[in-house]
Amino acid sequence: MSENYDVIIIGSGAGGGTLAHALADSGKRILLLERGDFLPREMDNWNPKPVFVDGKYISKDTWFDRDGKSFQPQVHYFVGGATKLYGAALYRLRPQDFGELKHVDGISPAWPLSYDDFEPWYSKAERLYQVHCNAGEDPTEGPRSEPYPWPAVSHEPRLQQISDDLAKGGYHPFHAPCGIMLNEARRPESTCIRCTWCDGYPCLVHAKADAEVIAVRPLLDRPNVTLLTGAEVTRLETDDSGRTVTGVAVTRDGNREVYRGDVVAVCAGAANSAKLLLNSANDKHPHGLANGSDQVGRNYMFHNCKAVAALSTVENDTVYQKTLGINDFYLATKDYEYPAGNIQMVGKSNAEAMRGEQPEKTWFAPEWSLTDTARHSVDWWLTTEDLPVPENRVTTDSGGQVHLTYSSTNDEEAGRLYHELKKILNHVGMAEHHVFRKNYYMDMAIPLAGCAHQAGTCRFGADPATSVLDVNCKAHELDNLYVVDTSFFPSIGAVNPALTAIANALRVGDHLRSRMA
Ligand SMILES: Cc1cc2nc3c(=O)[nH]c(=O)nc-3n(C[C@H](O)[C@H](O)[C@H](O)COP(=O)(O)OP(=O)(O)OC[C@H]3O[C@@H](n4cnc5c(N)ncnc54)[C@H](O)[C@@H]3O)c2cc1C
Ligand code: SF4
Repeated sequence: MSENYDVIIIGSGAGGGTLAHALADSGKRILLLERGDFLPREMDNWNPKPVFVDGKYISKDTWFDRDGKSFQPQVHYFVGGATKLYGAALYRLRPQDFGELKHVDGISPAWPLSYDDFEPWYSKAERLYQVHCNAGEDPTEGPRSEPYPWPAVSHEPRLQQISDDLAKGGYHPFHAPCGIMLNEARRPESTCIRCTWCDGYPCLVHAKADAEVIAVRPLLDRPNVTLLTGAEVTRLETDDSGRTVTGVAVTRDGNREVYRGDVVAVCAGAANSAKLLLNSANDKHPHGLANGSDQVGRNYMFHNCKAVAALSTVENDTVYQKTLGINDFYLATKDYEYPAGNIQMVGKSNAEAMRGEQPEKTWFAPEWSLTDTARHSVDWWLTTEDLPVPENRVTTDSGGQVHLTYSSTNDEEAGRLYHELKKILNHVGMAEHHVFRKNYYMDMAIPLAGCAHQAGTCRFGADPATSVLDVNCKAHELDNLYVVDTSFFPSIGAVNPALTAIANALRVGDHLRSRMA
């Protein structure tokens, strides 16, 4: 089969889904190729056993580590991509993240664009993904051109108490930015029911601002937009010059199909976008498409994270827990010369998920059941920036399979953040020794598998010798190839990446509209 489109978008997640949304009303013919299907709406969406213990919504892919040992990566192949399962914590990077930042293990490099360049796109992204937050509470936030579209999601009483205690202790807790369609002022009209099954679960009632619900679904009845599901792109073909992608080869229903587009945007997620480019090597691009710089697949980052449960004798009956953030250690402080990172909340622990997680320590209260433990836990998520190291990389083997080589960076900073959290806990009535690490959506046993925040494999930059993409996210070496997902990040900061991927997709969408006008 051979059909011609104005734009072919590969992958329908934060990057691809949003890009399709940004282009849809241009009238251009858009083909959205998604290897997964729609995520089924079923009671299992909100059941920790199928979701966390059985991994029902994780791909069956096999990837390999540096020693050739296989593992199952926690990636999600659905319309909407990883955002179907994400926690919808929609943070902007801080202005400093766009500049050079000195870390204990090296330099986090500057972006070719500044925070000010991104700011209008962040505002648009927050509007589109209905971010709920209050400006002015987070001491590290950058300037804003407009207020958040929705007020912050309120704290439930236990979290409000923690927030108040933190403020009394001299910290600066803030309401975290949440992409959920909660209307607290008019609850009967609210799509979101404020449940506990948000972070790491699909939203059964389609109230989470994910890329399927926000970006792709509204396009389905447009005559100029075609979505093909179950369509795995396996190779990009070029003309003889190697400058133009001329064919997008797809496996669908066991058949090979080839589609043609004037512009091709790869948005398959950082590892899979690199995989596709590497597997598309040809005479003109012997080391992989757009890989003359040897940067495709390199600089893989996914944050140096810890999920931590802290226990107190006070019960925590919070339902929706992701309302609080702390950035007091995001940048260097007078006590520590390096940025340690961001502290936020994860979804509330429950016994079923904990059983799957096999917490490292339960000795503190041997008489407690997992249900008791879950009921008393307050659940934190610590994020430290990891550095773009060339040796941390995605490669593919002769069969085209992903191999991931990764060594962590900034472990000292991550340890510092954990130390600060334990100090914080003393301020909020939780003894620091009543703390244990949770696996949550990061598999501690196989840390590589927890690739939720993967980024950096096709970084953008001004210099073709050191980057894959130009500032518009077009491949330096090709005239019609773009990569529009988290691959473009030159550094990852220490906040969740999705809003930046979304803002960038809107930015690139604007560029493509001008290009095609
Ligand atoms: C459990 C979990 C929780 C998270 N929580 C947060 C959070 O709270 N806040 C936040 O900012 N981020 C969070 N993230 C990360 C966030 O979801 C990702 O950063 C974001 O979705 C990345 O966008 P992307 O476009 O790069 O990739 P994705 O959103 O993953 O989209 C890639 C798409 O490409 C498709 N695809 C892959 N290969 C092919 C192929 N060969 N052919 C066709 N289609 C293909 C995939 O099926 C997928 O739909 C979380 C992620 C997970 C897994
Ligand atoms: S909290 Fe709201 S958005 Fe999240 S899963 Fe529940 S209903 Fe959906």
